[in-house]
Amino acid sequence: MSDHAAAQKYAASEEFVAHAHVKPAEYAAQYAASVADPNAFWAKEGQRIDWIKDFTRVKETSFERGAVSIKWFEDGTLNVSANCIDRHMTRRANQTAIIWEPDDPKTPAQHITYAQLLENTSRMANVLKAQGVSRGDRVVIYLPMIPEAAYAMLACARIGAIHSIVFAGFSPDALANRINDSEAKVLITADFAPRGGKKTALKNNADQALRHCDDRVKCLVVKHTGDQTHWTEGRDIDLKAEMAAAKPYCAYVEMGAEDPLFILYTSGSTGKPKGVVHTSGGYLVYAAMTQQITFDYHDGDVFWCTADVGWVTGHSYIIYGPLANGATTVMFEGVPTFPDAGRFWEVCAKHKVNQFYTAPTAIRSLMGMGPEWPAKHDLSSLKLLGSVGEPINPEAWNWYNQHVGKGRCPIVDTFWQTETGGHLITPIPGAIPQKPGSATLPFFGIQPIVLDPATAKVQDAVETDGVLCIADSWPGQMRTLWGDHARFEEAYFSQYPGYYFTGDGCRRDADGYYWITGRVDDVINVSGHRMGTAEVESALVAHPKVAESAVVGYPHDIKGQGIYAYVTLMKGEEPSEALRKELEAWVRTEIGPIAKPDLIQWAPGLPKTRSGKIMRRILRKIAENDFGALGDTSTLADPSVVDDLIANRMNKG
Ligand code: ATP
Ligand code: MG
Repeated sequence: MSDHAAAQKYAASEEFVAHAHVKPAEYAAQYAASVADPNAFWAKEGQRIDWIKDFTRVKETSFERGAVSIKWFEDGTLNVSANCIDRHMTRRANQTAIIWEPDDPKTPAQHITYAQLLENTSRMANVLKAQGVSRGDRVVIYLPMIPEAAYAMLACARIGAIHSIVFAGFSPDALANRINDSEAKVLITADFAPRGGKKTALKNNADQALRHCDDRVKCLVVKHTGDQTHWTEGRDIDLKAEMAAAKPYCAYVEMGAEDPLFILYTSGSTGKPKGVVHTSGGYLVYAAMTQQITFDYHDGDVFWCTADVGWVTGHSYIIYGPLANGATTVMFEGVPTFPDAGRFWEVCAKHKVNQFYTAPTAIRSLMGMGPEWPAKHDLSSLKLLGSVGEPINPEAWNWYNQHVGKGRCPIVDTFWQTETGGHLITPIPGAIPQKPGSATLPFFGIQPIVLDPATAKVQDAVETDGVLCIADSWPGQMRTLWGDHARFEEAYFSQYPGYYFTGDGCRRDADGYYWITGRVDDVINVSGHRMGTAEVESALVAHPKVAESAVVGYPHDIKGQGIYAYVTLMKGEEPSEALRKELEAWVRTEIGPIAKPDLIQWAPGLPKTRSGKIMRRILRKIAENDFGALGDTSTLADPSVVDDLIANRMNKG
């Protein structure tokens, strides 16, 4: 196996350390304090946000099966919208809260100040109230990445309604399911969603979805592109017109710390999406703290998280975390490759972005386009880079470090989940040296433990591998699955009693650094050797001709499981028998003979979720020749990719 302890370490520059929130000598003691006395630690951190009535209770949590209950700051009251807007009005009314960068670079960007954010959020809250929405009601948001999405989230929070965002790339079916599952009163959508120069007919999708929903669901429509849409009188409401006519201020309501803030469905990488519920107080404390500490955010910095607000990353790190901290946050409507592969870097230069946070899938695809794209733009404002969503292959890490960060920006590889509200394992920049491909060490208050997958025994040795669980609660943790607490306990607390089970496998190296090896379901067992898919994939991606790869196991008569590798080549490279042999030999030397792929299939594209994650469960079915049972494919980005892979499946005979 590759020698993780010996991997090169990258420490931040002296200059970075001098300004960092957490110094190298401070991490260990602060971490120890955070887990030794969570009540004391979080009582202090809880003061990051403004409470209407201060809490006297801090941590009240149990992971015990049959009685799982998670409550933080329970007797405190607050309003999340007031924390993200009103409390900044004395000092920051005229500071930009949101920089909106539209899909088409020729359309001017918008700079929305905190004062404007207050007014627009208030107007939208008043429109919602006029539609009968009140505390505890659900509102589904199906919008492009436009400022109205931020107003809608904050307007719900302001009046105590629970939002559930559905990514604008999802189908009418997926939308209808989520409206019905949450029994929403109102749907907020737009006429069209421009993305990469194309327009998705969002309102048309909404019309189709609403046919399967309660007649009383109202549809608030943002006329964004202004193109014609079908209009249902009595149900459809022109949101911008109503906002213009509404009162410019709306008072916020006093909410309990444990009142739900939002429902959000997971990406569906491993199965049917789950309706994760986050509440108000603990979530906001954790989102704010991680945004400041993990990204070393300082007053005046411009922060850009490229995720969509349809994912948890967009919730915590475009909206709630940054705005709770009074930050300037960038909201981008477009895609990394429109109008060309330099768009990310052009936007970084244009808005003088200081912290940039994206996903490995984007980095790998831009890496495939060549380093000339980042080289064209002035990236000198960047101080820190981040990654989230999947393990980042060392190859992609090095490219990001060299061509985007120019070797002077720490890279935070943040491991976390929809369920966790914020980062779990991540290098705290300045304090923790990074190793490419490792999420490194736990965030404050997080207690990772590694269990033997078969015996559930805690692996005490520093250097070990197994399934990753978390031993105790933290404020940002999900509280339940919407309407299904039994499934919540079953999914996260039953397999390894007493612990929160992440579903991910990991390796811990001699330095105590964590390396996420992929989903536990994806672990391959070759002749008794357990291997994470991430390791084999990273070895393949390290080959200069390989752009992307996905590895799964398939039944093998002799070895138990064989290694089936799907490989996407770099632009301009052609598949050949010689290259296949070369890749086999390459993995042999990179990892060892045991990891040599048994079958390599050339894949022009890989099946991914709409958030860009590889759906290995579908690839596993193809490798197993089990096309009839592909499972829930509702969150698949491009179904035609699957047809191509089935048609060109390797013959295992
Ligand atoms: P579903 O739960 O529906 O299968 P999902 O797990 O992909 O979907 P998310 O909550 O968006 O939905 O993603 C969390 C998962 O993403 C983690 O469990 C992990 O597998 C992966 N992940 C996220 N960040 C990292 C990272 N930095 N390194 C490795 N893996 C990561
Ligand atoms: Mg998951």
